[in-house]
Amino acid sequence: MNKPIEVTPPEFLQQREKKLLINGKWVNSSSGQTFSTVNPSTGKVIAEIARGDATDVDYAVKAARRAFDEGPWRFFKPAQRQHLLLRLADLVEDHFDELSTIDTIDMGVPISRSRAGRNRAVSLVRYYAGLATTIQGNTIENSAPGSFFSYTLKDPVGVVGAIIPWNGPLGIALWKLAPALATGCTVVLKPAEQASLSPLRLGELIEEAGFPPGVINIVTGFGDVGAAISNHPCVDKVSFTGSTETGRAIIRASAGNIKRLSLELGGKSADIVFADADLDTAVAGAAMAGFNNSGQVCSAGTRLFVEESIREEFIGRLADFTRSLTVGNSQDINTQLGPLVSEEQMNRVMGYCAKGQEEGAQVLTGGIRLTEGNHSNGFFVAPTVFSDVIDTMTIAREEIFGPVISVLSFNDIDDVIRRANESPYGLGGGVWSRDVKKVHKVSNALRTGTVWANCYQVMDPAIPFGGYKASGYGRESGMDHLNEFLNIKSVVLKLD
Ligand code: NAP
Ligand code: MG
Repeated sequence: MNKPIEVTPPEFLQQREKKLLINGKWVNSSSGQTFSTVNPSTGKVIAEIARGDATDVDYAVKAARRAFDEGPWRFFKPAQRQHLLLRLADLVEDHFDELSTIDTIDMGVPISRSRAGRNRAVSLVRYYAGLATTIQGNTIENSAPGSFFSYTLKDPVGVVGAIIPWNGPLGIALWKLAPALATGCTVVLKPAEQASLSPLRLGELIEEAGFPPGVINIVTGFGDVGAAISNHPCVDKVSFTGSTETGRAIIRASAGNIKRLSLELGGKSADIVFADADLDTAVAGAAMAGFNNSGQVCSAGTRLFVEESIREEFIGRLADFTRSLTVGNSQDINTQLGPLVSEEQMNRVMGYCAKGQEEGAQVLTGGIRLTEGNHSNGFFVAPTVFSDVIDTMTIAREEIFGPVISVLSFNDIDDVIRRANESPYGLGGGVWSRDVKKVHKVSNALRTGTVWANCYQVMDPAIPFGGYKASGYGRESGMDHLNEFLNIKSVVLKLD
């Protein structure tokens, strides 16, 4: 258990006070208040962060508004925006070890996982840099009486509020910033209170890349900062990733000035294993579909449907695999699963474990908090598999956002499709089978934004990602992502 810690904290974490980035300057919050952020592997405070409020949001939005309305950013050519994004991509690449270590220390993602995100983070920014020079409207033949020339322009929506959760601070920040900047929008970014540090370090790299003041502003703080962004009359669009409940609050807040919204919300994704699956791949694949990032993944495959004829064998192997996982300090290179992000989240997950047992599910493995040895001060929950779960149980319906998989069984393909779709959510889903017809039938029938077949959580900047139903609307990644930040303007020119 007591393995050496192999990753040293970067210099950025030596300076303990972190400020807001507004109009190209690092400033204290207007109230002077700060809040502490802790390392969830140890429970120790690692930095004091400026606690912004509605006044700071107003400063940041005004700076973003000026940068958008008055320039110079407004008048940057697409190739100039591309150039800055490529510079930012290079800086993210050069500093990736540091950025990923910050996420590991601040939110508890194991270093093996955070380091593995290098290619995705860098290629994401380069992908949008590439798209910056592809924005185009259409010329449109019309049948209006007389002679008219008509065409469309794509216009950036303006000031974007980007509000992000804690489970992928660097990756999700880049996912919002890069497309918004490619289109010429300006941004006010609100990181999650539990994991603000890598977005703040990214803010320094954004400055180093040479983006003009006010183009990107960062306001750290609590939920009231997100609410102030969502309510602000000069914010044109909110791009939000987080819980469905907060998504609903943002929809309500958007009504004031009819903001554009894109919402990447929660999930309770079904992962379906047929008896003809390659079980060697499916056991490990289905386990990690639920346990990656300690289950703090929106598309985690937490409703695991296993065909009845292989149920006994499958759950035995799943339990063995789960017990073999190394849970520990996120800075340890051998760690496969780190802590939950906070004590509050750990308690929430433990509450679900208790509820599962109360409602009659069986704990196959896990179901406990880990408190011995180097787990003693952190927020660790053992990876947990529940068997004998039925569809109506709380653990089969609600998003837990922890390392908890509920195993359900099925006999019939139509029945499992119906049950998989009986969820208010529709974010991800998986199917494991060697039969291409089954894979095709399930993939077509699942009412979710993504289906992974014989794999799980494979992501790429070019592949759209987003929700059906209460998992939200709008798509991130892919060519269509840019349209989330663009208005279509039609121009009609009388020619005679
Ligand atoms: P959350 O509680 O909804 O918080 C997300 C962000 O919203 C945080 O920055 C939060 O600030 C802010 N916020 C809180 N109240 C707000 C309000 N009234 N108005 C505007 N913003 C507000 O979500 P979380 O617990 O951080 O993250 C977990 C959730 O995110 C899960 O449900 C997960 O499924 C979802 N998620 C979805 C995706 C996806 O792509 N679909 C990806 C990752 C995560 P504070 O941190 O200060 O509270
Ligand atoms: Mg932290």
